[in-house]
Amino acid sequence: MDIHAHPVFSNVYILTKILSALPDFSGLYRAIAISKSFYHAYQAYPQSITRSVAFNLNLFDSTLPSALRLVRCQLANFEFPGANEDAPRFEPPGSPAYDEEDLTNDHILNLSCEEIRALADRQKVVQSIEDIFSSREKDRRFTTSQLTHVESTRFRRAMYRTWLFCATYGCEAYDKNQGYGDGEYDDDANEENLEHQKGFLKAFSTPELHEIITVAAFLQHMATWAENAGFLKSAELLSEHLIDDWASYALFHGPQAVLRAQLNDLTWLCTDYHEHLYPRIDGFLFLAISDVLDDRDQEPEATLRTRKTVIDECIGEGDICQRCQSGNVFAKYLWNINNWGYLRGFQPPKALQTQLKGYLSCNIAETDGFIEACEKTPYTVLFGEILDLYNANDDAKQSKDDWLCEDCLMIFAHDYLHLWFLQWKRKEGLYVSEDNCRCSAGCDCVIQTHDVEHAQKYNHWCDPMRKDGTGAN
Ligand SMILES: [Zn+2]
Ligand SMILES: [Zn+2]
Repeated sequence: MDIHAHPVFSNVYILTKILSALPDFSGLYRAIAISKSFYHAYQAYPQSITRSVAFNLNLFDSTLPSALRLVRCQLANFEFPGANEDAPRFEPPGSPAYDEEDLTNDHILNLSCEEIRALADRQKVVQSIEDIFSSREKDRRFTTSQLTHVESTRFRRAMYRTWLFCATYGCEAYDKNQGYGDGEYDDDANEENLEHQKGFLKAFSTPELHEIITVAAFLQHMATWAENAGFLKSAELLSEHLIDDWASYALFHGPQAVLRAQLNDLTWLCTDYHEHLYPRIDGFLFLAISDVLDDRDQEPEATLRTRKTVIDECIGEGDICQRCQSGNVFAKYLWNINNWGYLRGFQPPKALQTQLKGYLSCNIAETDGFIEACEKTPYTVLFGEILDLYNANDDAKQSKDDWLCEDCLMIFAHDYLHLWFLQWKRKEGLYVSEDNCRCSAGCDCVIQTHDVEHAQKYNHWCDPMRKDGTGAN
């Protein structure tokens, strides 16, 4: 039998099967782009192939109603309630068109390719945030999510709902309306807006609201982390007010913007907001959720922020520092090579500068260069090299796998950061004063703090030969 003549074994059939087995949409798009045969196979059965890849991505799990509601609202180009009287209104929660309960089996079978692709895009963002959440709150040993199926479902469902809230009442809605006209930010309008927000949130049970608080508070933590890590340099453009409430400002832009901020991508920053928008940014989401809990005589949200409402168990909760044996440290504040990268939001380059030995943190010629070196070096590399220097110079050895508290890690930083910077400069091919130009007081030299010429001419990134802090040679 000629198998090519049989439709079951036709080329298109085989190619369709191959495309349907691909694990994600980027693989699918690459295959279509590089091969005409794949392209024609896809054109023959776009919906079926798209749905198969969506199944491979686990898009159709129990969080689908929340995710699909977000996607449908965003694709429908909904409007900010009260934004523009002539514009079509966003249907508030309670409307059959957008209730999660209605988005079940029939809808899954009728999903459009556009909706499936939008779901996959959002899933990628939510997965990345879940990975970070897991490494901070669940199991610090891994950079990918270790949440159980139940915990992961809670997290993702709450994240899609938070995202929808941000899209409906935050920057996205504001941008769609190209801002408000004069007089539409007065107290009455803000009050009405708050009532809309409460209406949205009232549709959820109190435990579901607790989950939303947990994920929204985590998004704020991520934004604050990015700020602490020194990623907000371009934020000079932002007004002082927005910097004051940066965490709310970032949340106002939604989860995707927060994730990008943590990856040091602030290209989404908008700086032309009018002052009258500030009341909508201050306390964004939390003000409304507080009111709803208050109306239900529930605990205030502030006390709920630290409660475990998403994860049931944190792995290694009782662990101690393997160097000083201190047990007074939360598990997430123990560090080894697995999570050094996250340390930047707690010990940013400017903080490392203060750890430098002697008077080096006030060296008048080179501290900017030191900060730049720390900014350019991933912290996993930086702390790895510091421990390498320690292990090369000290009889005692320190394993990179040991879990240390921040205090212990900073002892190594204090002792070896200056040598690390010297090593970095050599690697970069930057000028380093050789030994005959070494200041004999080394890092303890006081003159380096006020005499530029001296600070430039002599190398101070070394231990002192003289103990009195004077002189060059
Ligand atoms: Zn310790
Ligand atoms: Zn000197």
